[in-house]
Amino acid sequence: MDKKAKGVNTICTHIGELEDKTFKGAISPLYMSTSYDYEDVDIKRYPRYFNTPNQEALCRKIAALEHTEAALIFGSGMAAVSTALLAFLNKGDHLVVPRQIYGGAYNLIVEEFSKYGIEYTFIDGTERTAFENAIQPNTRVLYLETPSNPLLTLTDLEAIGSLARSRGLTTLIDNTFASPVNQNPADYGIDVIIHSATKYMGGHSDICAGAVAGSHTHIDRIFQLAKNLGGSLSDYTVWLLERSLKTMGIRVRAQNENALKLANFLEQHPDIHKVYYPGLQSHPNHQIAKAQMHGFGGMLSFELSEAVDQHTFMRSLKWIKVSMSLAGVESTLLAPSKTSHALLSPEERLKTGIRDGLIRFSTGIEDFEDLKADLTQALVQSKTISKETVT
Ligand SMILES: *Cc1c(COP(=O)(O)O)cnc(C)c1O
Repeated sequence: MDKKAKGVNTICTHIGELEDKTFKGAISPLYMSTSYDYEDVDIKRYPRYFNTPNQEALCRKIAALEHTEAALIFGSGMAAVSTALLAFLNKGDHLVVPRQIYGGAYNLIVEEFSKYGIEYTFIDGTERTAFENAIQPNTRVLYLETPSNPLLTLTDLEAIGSLARSRGLTTLIDNTFASPVNQNPADYGIDVIIHSATKYMGGHSDICAGAVAGSHTHIDRIFQLAKNLGGSLSDYTVWLLERSLKTMGIRVRAQNENALKLANFLEQHPDIHKVYYPGLQSHPNHQIAKAQMHGFGGMLSFELSEAVDQHTFMRSLKWIKVSMSLAGVESTLLAPSKTSHALLSPEERLKTGIRDGLIRFSTGIEDFEDLKADLTQALVQSKTISKETVT
């Protein structure tokens, strides 16, 4: 069966369904057993072997969504990131990784890798030359994350994929921000695709899970470590995640549409200094976005002008919530200088391009006009220099 020929919404709805043979119900039954008979079966089923009926079914859906042969589901995005990285890195091996990756992945590397004798180089910038210059004789893995957090910088997947192939290296990507609806890195020769399913795959801010997708060979290598580390997901949450994925295509497309409209609206707004969104002509990586993304995503960032008080702005919003996480059906925002990047000094933040007035915005599925009205009124409320005082 050619899975690529199927539309994303059909994959979301149908691939990997379990048939209810007993009652002929419309949806996958949930099998909560942690114990299965071991005679007359090829495989011994057990949740931590990642092979319960619901786990296997959901893996088929995720593999189909990412255009790969296989997938595995984990108890969190970081369980997926850590298991995937450690599966391909042995003692004495070297990893090349951009500095601007998800904070949890960054901490994993700087806090744990020296214990295992794994070397790494953090690179600034994500062009092919930046990766190439950092490759050493013991380099085994190139790690990428595109679009990046919070400035939505893109990495050229084709360029890094071909660089890795020419040097015999394995490529791992954190594809969380794009979701499988907007970007399929396997089509560009990237080996292992990682998701925090807590984000767009779950999509309702109520599931913590992770996933990896890749070839049978790559996924089997990750599995061999995964069963020892033990980061599997409970079958009840697996079943909930399957339900969430059924609407991922329509959710993410609605979020793409809202985000593009919001980016255009904010870019024109006099109280907004700058907007970062791959779908804007003004984004430095817009051409890369058009080449490798099916949609520009639901994440954007913007800088408030100096005339706007950031705290008042965030607290004046009526629908849009202040929230640490992202990718739910509700629009949320946060200030990176107060959250993900709070531990950096103002100078260090500035070096990474994160100004104090920066807001990271996760677009929901609300009606655009309501989001626009909410942002407009909050900008009026939070002007430090009101028009009256100026005149
Ligand atoms: C949230 C996130 C993760 C980690 O996922 P958890 O489910 O929180 O463990 C990894 N990468 C990115 C880009 C994320 O946004």
